[in-house]
Amino acid sequence: MSWTERQRALLGAMGLRVWGETAPEHALATSDAGLEDAAAPASPSDPDPAPPRPAAPERRRAPAPQADAASPPPRASPAIDLGAVAAMEWPALREAVAACRACDLCQTRTQTVFGVGHARAHWMVVGEAPGEQEDRQGEPFVGAAGQLLDRMLAALQLSRADDGDAASRVYIANTLKCRPPRNRNPSAEELHACEPFLVRQIELLRPRIILAMGRFAVQALLRSDEPVGKLRGRVHRYQGVPLVVTYHPAYLLRNLPDKARAWEDLCLAAGVAEAAAEAAG
Ligand code: SF4
Repeated sequence: MSWTERQRALLGAMGLRVWGETAPEHALATSDAGLEDAAAPASPSDPDPAPPRPAAPERRRAPAPQADAASPPPRASPAIDLGAVAAMEWPALREAVAACRACDLCQTRTQTVFGVGHARAHWMVVGEAPGEQEDRQGEPFVGAAGQLLDRMLAALQLSRADDGDAASRVYIANTLKCRPPRNRNPSAEELHACEPFLVRQIELLRPRIILAMGRFAVQALLRSDEPVGKLRGRVHRYQGVPLVVTYHPAYLLRNLPDKARAWEDLCLAAGVAEAAAEAAG
């Protein structure tokens, strides 16, 4: 990997090292022994095992929309048609999210925030929930946190552009597609209600590496209440896809010393993606 002077200057300014030159040895370890399957039972010595996966919600069809224009806005419907979502391609899935009223967040959102990037990107970033800017613009990771994410990805020669070489592209989505009011934490019910959309995005994308950023992305994908700091630094798996946990960029903006750890996480993910590319020939 070649580095531009600008990238070197950026990393130097962040106090971070350059991937491919001084990456830690463990970042390159991609053997099975280094992988941790999130679906595997917790070891007996684990003092705080991950909670079991909740049962899949009952499959049923969403009720027909109310046609009376004089009626108040429809209230949240209790369930998504899981069978229909599981069969959707990208355009239908995007439309389904835009029309979704499966939890109360539909009543306060400006718009849904579906996701952005190349439909065959090798990398996927999963964040938490849209904030104020995302709710306004309809795109995940915008504003200062998004700019930091873009700079970190660019340092690995990755981009959220939706065209070009899939190997250097990142698809970015949030766990929740609607903004919680006043940026409050998402509830377990909201995360559960919205999960089928993220599951389908991952199925359609089939990424080679997932970066789970922040506590709620980790809760949704790994069913773990462990803090990010305890889960980062190793490779987990989600539905067979290698997954690396790291800090959310919004957290990094407030906690500068952890930027170096986040960079190590990205280097770890880069090592995994590189190994996957070599294995795929
Ligand atoms: S957060 Fe998800 S489940 Fe809730 S209304 Fe928005 S799209 Fe639907």
